Amino acid sequence: MQKIAVGVLGATGMVGQQYIRLLENHPWFEVAYVAASPQSAGKQYKEALKNGWLVGGELPARVGELVVGDVSDVAAAAKKCAFVFSAFEMPEKDLIRQYENEYAAADMPVFSNASAHRGTDNVPMIIAEINPHHLDIIPEQQKQNGWKKGFIVVKPNCSLQSYLTPIFALMKEGYEVEKLIITTLQAISGAGYPGVASLDVVDNVVPYIDGEEEKTENEPLKILGEAKGGTFVPHRGLAISAHCNRVPVTDGHLACVNVAFGKKKPSREEILSIWQTFRADPQTLDLPFAPKQPIIYRDEPNRPQPRKDRDADKAMAVSVGRLREDSVFDFKFASLSHNTVRGAAGGGILAAELAYKKGYIAH
Ligand code: NAP
Repeated sequence: MQKIAVGVLGATGMVGQQYIRLLENHPWFEVAYVAASPQSAGKQYKEALKNGWLVGGELPARVGELVVGDVSDVAAAAKKCAFVFSAFEMPEKDLIRQYENEYAAADMPVFSNASAHRGTDNVPMIIAEINPHHLDIIPEQQKQNGWKKGFIVVKPNCSLQSYLTPIFALMKEGYEVEKLIITTLQAISGAGYPGVASLDVVDNVVPYIDGEEEKTENEPLKILGEAKGGTFVPHRGLAISAHCNRVPVTDGHLACVNVAFGKKKPSREEILSIWQTFRADPQTLDLPFAPKQPIIYRDEPNRPQPRKDRDADKAMAVSVGRLREDSVFDFKFASLSHNTVRGAAGGGILAAELAYKKGYIAH
């Protein structure tokens, strides 16, 4: 099979570099185009990496030779690639939305890590194991916008990736989840490079991440919601309260979760059995980036831990542990996922694989 040419917008950043690393030797997709800010445009990719190659291994030599485009030059991207992964950052969210719309209007599907389009009514926010069917709003989105082949799909915020799949697995088995209190311990790489100043985060915890608690509380409701009449209707009956903290860990967001069920409450054994047997639907499970076991339960009393568990199953699995009864809610547990892989580039690639399998990306 001839590989599909893809572009990475924001290719020089933390998430963009993960895309380049993860897409090397991908069976279906090949990076044919990279773009970043006007300061990087015109340089060879390897020269444009002002902070160097940050994501481990070696920069793929072929990509290092590509000349970086300007994100605003949509026509240049259209000549080189069939669709784009969007991971560029700008202070103006309106401008991110505008550029992503321009890519979609120019027949290039966009898989975005930015938050700009997460609140857009007809844009699906995908965690492939939870809501693969939300992609089926794409024809309606195209119709509403007058786009032919282009569309926009977003990834949710990285802070909720670790706990939402375990919660969804329980809901899928008929247990109503009514309340969640989430306390996240989030890695420094979540803030991009150079992220939080070392003097602020070494020997310290920062109990504030701008905008993160709102995203952690609201985005799950869209993911768990339903598409009706060309828009997403948020899930009702689940209240979430979040505390988000920045901690001195390089990669891997940990969440401590307290959960309250409705009238029907599972036992600890039932929860463990549901998590251990949970699998994505067959179409998702067979995708190259899908973890074979999306939820891995660790029996050790002191796991999961970022350094030990973040790379589980290509860094795409969620590691869970410490399930125990809660004296205020019903149960509590800890969960962990890799923020720049599962929570960003890897999750974006998985969503694109799913869209391709469903026939939404023209080859
Ligand atoms: P980052 O390391 O700061 O990288 C930012 C990227 O945006 C760079 O490629 C940069 O290019 C580009 N950029 C900056 N100003 C620009 C402009 N005016 N026009 C076009 N491109 C511009 O950030 P990141 O951590 O990779 O995050 C990228 C996006 O993914 C953000 O929306 C972030 O919220 C989201 N995200 C991040 C994570 C994570 O764990 N880090 C997880 C989920 C989602 P230059 O090198 O040329 O400046």
